[in-house]
Amino acid sequence: MRLIFLGPPGAGKGTQAEFICRDFNIKQLSTGDLLRYHRKEGTELGKKAQEFMDKGELVPDSLIIDMIRSELKKPEYQNGYLLDGFPRTIAQAEAFDKLINELGQTLNAVLVLEVPTEELVTRLTARRTCRVCGKTYHLVYNPPKQEGICDVCGGELYQRSDDNEETVRNRLAVYEKQTKPLIEYYELKGLAYHIDGKGKIEDIYSRIKEILQNKT
Ligand code: AMP
Repeated sequence: MRLIFLGPPGAGKGTQAEFICRDFNIKQLSTGDLLRYHRKEGTELGKKAQEFMDKGELVPDSLIIDMIRSELKKPEYQNGYLLDGFPRTIAQAEAFDKLINELGQTLNAVLVLEVPTEELVTRLTARRTCRVCGKTYHLVYNPPKQEGICDVCGGELYQRSDDNEETVRNRLAVYEKQTKPLIEYYELKGLAYHIDGKGKIEDIYSRIKEILQNKT
């Protein structure tokens, strides 16, 4: 199964992606996680991406498309994948259409996770992320068992440099302008499924699972 996860920053894509990939045996590909990895490793791509990420702007399409192209050719994506945070512009979506064709694959569904904007700011500024495995927590609604420590791997939790209020507001504005038009793009292809992203994590996942079970 091949899926795209659309939705604003803070909608809970990463959290839900973990459950989907576990239950449907596919691999998550988060462009944000991949870029943060490149930054940590100090690669050329990481250096180029840094200034855009810190301002909450999008990294240029050509860099992202090259990164996705080389990633999706790896064997671990053969069984299917869930794209989280990609595509984010119409140009990226068009490039992905070409790439998936070249790879002889088809896209099964685009999940659109919907959460009101006011809630997103609160969610993102209270988010903490594991430095080691990338798992995310919410200080109030989904706290770790031990403060500052990841439940899964024991790694240190930190606040992403782009999860401060000013950058968060810019990221949400960038989403409205550049990424939201993709919803219509996939609606016209008959691939978009809207999901109410409010409420308990497990209830949201039940809604997603129901949609995906009808796809397999
Ligand atoms: P995320 O972890 O998905 O919130 O992404 C964090 C940051 O990485 C974004 O604010 C962008 O600067 C950059 N980024 C991630 N995915 C993309 C993409 N598909 N296109 C452009 N920039 C991206």
